[in-house]
Amino acid sequence: MASHPDVTIIGSGIIGLTSAYFLAKAGVSVAVYDRGDLGREASWAGAGIIPPGNPDRAATPADKLRGLGSLRFPELSAELRDLTGIDNGYRRCGGIEFLAHEDEGVPDVWRAEGISFERLSLSAAKRLEPLGDVQGEPHLLPGCAQVRNPWHLRALIAACEKSGVRLHRDTGVEAWEFKGDRVSAVRLANGDRVTANRYLLAAGAWSESLLRPLGHSPHVHPVRGQIALLKGRSCSRVLMLGKRYIVPRGDGLTLIGSTEEPEAGFEKVTTPEGVSELLAFARKTVPVLADAVLETSWAGLRPGSPDGLPFIGSVPGWGDVFVAAGHFRAGVQLSLGTAQAITELLTGVPTYVDLDAFAVDRKPQASAKSAFRS
Ligand SMILES: Cc1cc2nc3c(=O)[nH]c(=O)nc-3n(C[C@H](O)[C@H](O)[C@H](O)COP(=O)(O)OP(=O)(O)OC[C@H]3O[C@@H](n4cnc5c(N)ncnc54)[C@H](O)[C@@H]3O)c2cc1C
Repeated sequence: MASHPDVTIIGSGIIGLTSAYFLAKAGVSVAVYDRGDLGREASWAGAGIIPPGNPDRAATPADKLRGLGSLRFPELSAELRDLTGIDNGYRRCGGIEFLAHEDEGVPDVWRAEGISFERLSLSAAKRLEPLGDVQGEPHLLPGCAQVRNPWHLRALIAACEKSGVRLHRDTGVEAWEFKGDRVSAVRLANGDRVTANRYLLAAGAWSESLLRPLGHSPHVHPVRGQIALLKGRSCSRVLMLGKRYIVPRGDGLTLIGSTEEPEAGFEKVTTPEGVSELLAFARKTVPVLADAVLETSWAGLRPGSPDGLPFIGSVPGWGDVFVAAGHFRAGVQLSLGTAQAITELLTGVPTYVDLDAFAVDRKPQASAKSAFRS
């Protein structure tokens, strides 16, 4: 493979790696650089909830990205397993979403997309799951799925390697080098220069510092999320209550998430208060979890954006620089849709989704409200 690849990707999270794999499948030569180990930031830390969706009937570009993820995750999971032998743990376990008063219009969005759901009475919900004290109106979502993030990333890394993508760990990108209105190279932390025909910035919560020298400050910022992992009896479906959720892994492990702490900046640590809050939520929602053992806890830095929507597309003013960052709470479910759009853009095919909604220089969309929070 050429040492001067067609595309150099900065960042090996789920967005960078899925894009790398899709581009390689389209015949593009790709190199990926990460300043740490591969895939170990927000993408490793996430809960892996993949809500249902339908790209053909989605009302907004973001719903379209989600719908594509929902539709294609089973196919991609099977493909990765065949290629690498690694099972990413994808399964359609179903979920129950407890809608609050302010979620009033959400069932209409689901109905318009043709998402299968059923409004349950509280007693019907309690017959399905060992629920305790829960607020909101329970809605059964049989199409809700989950993936084991670390397994999925291992599968993506192996698939990239098998597809000829050059992966570079512990090799951070420090700066751009310019020639006129083009980037001529990137400078690495070790002092090396790397050239490519095009560059894709997919550095998650750290993307802002590489966008600024390009004249853009869209305010991609870290939003810490903590997760507690319990072992013991649990529920069988994903339970979603506002910003909190319970994700039973099906092997005795249950993930409890998550806090949302923009004020923590880049401090990727758990706190006693954060973990206690999650444990209290778990015990209140599913009382049998009071007997479960706390196995471990961790924190990750979601790449936040002012309106919660990602930035995907070309970077204005620079013919050879592209971005895919700021996926906030939804980078796993949006990863396939993002990678497909990026691949279309970089191979000169009309994109299946209108990327104006994700432009780096857009005005934050005040009305951007998702039908799922994950
Ligand atoms: C607790 C938690 C729970 C979540 N749950 C869900 C969920 O259930 N469903 C869902 O869809 N989403 C979920 N998310 C959100 C999702 O995980 C993120 O949106 C997604 O992982 C973002 O992916 P990314 O590739 O953009 O960023 P990251 O995974 O953070 O990857 C960015 C990479 O860029 C690298 N990098 C940074 N700077 C440089 C540089 N200068 N040079 C080279 N490399 C660099 C970093 O080392 C990192 O590996 C959750 C997130 C968290 C934290």
